[in-house]
Amino acid sequence: MKVALLASTDSPDELACRAARNDYTTEFVADRGFAEVMEAVDGGTVEEKKANLISQLMERGHYGPFEHPNATFAVRGISRVCMAQITRHRHASFDVQSLRYTIPEPGSDVRGSVVTPPSVEEAGLNDEFLEGCERQFELYHNLIDEDAPKKFRGDGTTPPEDARFLLPMATKVNMVFTLNARALMHVADMRAAADAQWEVRELTDRMLELAEDWMPTTFETYREEMLGRKNRLAP
Ligand SMILES: Cc1cc2nc3c(=O)[nH]c(=O)nc-3n(C[C@H](O)[C@H](O)[C@H](O)COP(=O)(O)OP(=O)(O)OC[C@H]3O[C@@H](n4cnc5c(N)ncnc54)[C@H](O)[C@@H]3O)c2cc1C
Repeated sequence: MKVALLASTDSPDELACRAARNDYTTEFVADRGFAEVMEAVDGGTVEEKKANLISQLMERGHYGPFEHPNATFAVRGISRVCMAQITRHRHASFDVQSLRYTIPEPGSDVRGSVVTPPSVEEAGLNDEFLEGCERQFELYHNLIDEDAPKKFRGDGTTPPEDARFLLPMATKVNMVFTLNARALMHVADMRAAADAQWEVRELTDRMLELAEDWMPTTFETYREEMLGRKNRLAP
């Protein structure tokens, strides 16, 4: 699995703070410098004020300001199992690689086209798992290949969108998705948790690492104060 931050809102911590301060002032936040906007917040420096405000917002459950900064992630090589889990989150927008228009290469090493769960490897069943996947890929290619023997493809060929029904759920796909910081924290509440499956947990952990670089004050506070607590955050 590879995860990258493809695009993101600039100065996201500052944007969340500006949005929050907007709620408690009659001044127009767009006309004022950031230090001025943060004047009434406790703290010696602007950085301290930012950290204090973000911590207070999370503590009070005032999550709206975290909906303004957005991040777009590109993900390579997750299984369709993991894809099904992450796409359940309705506040994110997704583009998923189509197995109708992108056809896994015939004869290519199946190992590179599927995700093998660590438990299968630990049980020493790697070869059996890959053989099973290979068989499904072989049947798939025979269905779509007009040069395949008739006994494999019947009286015609099957379109890839129907032949793909045969592919294993381990088949790798790539995705691009966008979500705001609040939705990302909610996804992490559910998917970085111990009861989430290992692959979606790994995906979420990588997203959180990238989020800490992108929006450091918010996501460091989230990791230190919110992640793993009992009452999960609902956007
Ligand atoms: C460990 C684990 C096991 C799971 N097992 C299963 C399973 O066996 N079968 C299965 O189907 N799913 C399963 N799920 C998926 C789970 O039920 C959720 O559908 C998924 O995690 C999306 O999260 P969410 O409900 O918080 O919604 P999101 O889409 O992430 O929305 C975030 C929040 O917005 C609010 N919201 C969004 N849409 C609505 C709405 N229509 N009405 C009211 N409030 C809304 C809710 O507060 C919600 O929590 C599992 C999830 C986990 C973490």
